[in-house]
Amino acid sequence: MQRQARQWRRDGVAVGLVPTMGYLHAGHLSLVARARRSVGARGKVVVSLYVNPTQFGPGEDLSRYPRDLSRDRTLCREAGVDALFLPTDAAMYPGREQGDYSTFVVEEALSQGMEGASRPTHFRGVTTIVAKLFNLVLPEVAVFGAKDFQQAAVIRRMTRDLNFPLRVIVAPTIREPDGLALSSRNAYLSPEERAQAGVLREACLLARQAVKEAGDAGLPAAQLKRRVSACIGRKPAAHLDYVEFFDPETLRPRRRVERGSHMALAVRVGSTRLIDNASMNED
Ligand code: AMP
Repeated sequence: MQRQARQWRRDGVAVGLVPTMGYLHAGHLSLVARARRSVGARGKVVVSLYVNPTQFGPGEDLSRYPRDLSRDRTLCREAGVDALFLPTDAAMYPGREQGDYSTFVVEEALSQGMEGASRPTHFRGVTTIVAKLFNLVLPEVAVFGAKDFQQAAVIRRMTRDLNFPLRVIVAPTIREPDGLALSSRNAYLSPEERAQAGVLREACLLARQAVKEAGDAGLPAAQLKRRVSACIGRKPAAHLDYVEFFDPETLRPRRRVERGSHMALAVRVGSTRLIDNASMNED
């Protein structure tokens, strides 16, 4: 991959990277389209497909994460992807089985709360694998989804702090008609659970409406959290992991929520953990 990337660089060909864990859906393909728009018809769009073990905690869904490589290949071909990068565990983490893979990238501020609090080693795995992909693919641009809002913020920060010579683009969340954000993990949902999973978006819109009605004064975060929790509680299969209101740049929690604040939540629907987020600005 790196040899090919260096050749592209020498030839003056722009490269756009879309990192994924596969089981591709229209959300991933929207990132591919965004990368294409950025690098142009002469540029190369690389999709990496790697279920990165270091970003899963013990007891998480690493072993059952959905996979369908032949379908992913077809979707990439149809979407005009130039290269599908499929590294193996042995290539990405040499010596890890013997305990002698020993270098990780850690972001120490934005990755602390929310997903970082619920999944303590998650972002260390994400920043490490993304840094490695940047070094392997040597892209001018890398495209990430706003669906993973905190992840995008952490990657932007890592890119800035470590001087990676590329531009991070964050593309909007693609949703089902009922508002559920597309996710590979939606495949885990039973029909009953799927029918209830729209509640994440419902809770975001409820909070946004409450903030709009509160006007300039805003609302206490604690009050909004209670309302979100009650909304999630009305679906029997859904259990709130966290909901947070925060500044979209610094990710610092806000005690008073105003237009411009951001909201993120994680909800277990049955045994499937789903996340979503929304700006408290009206769209
Ligand atoms: P994943 O394969 O779930 O690790 O996601 C790979 C990339 O796709 C990440 O940058 C995600 O934020 C992005 N992504 C996942 N779901 C969506 C979606 N529904 N809309 C837009 N981007 C998404």
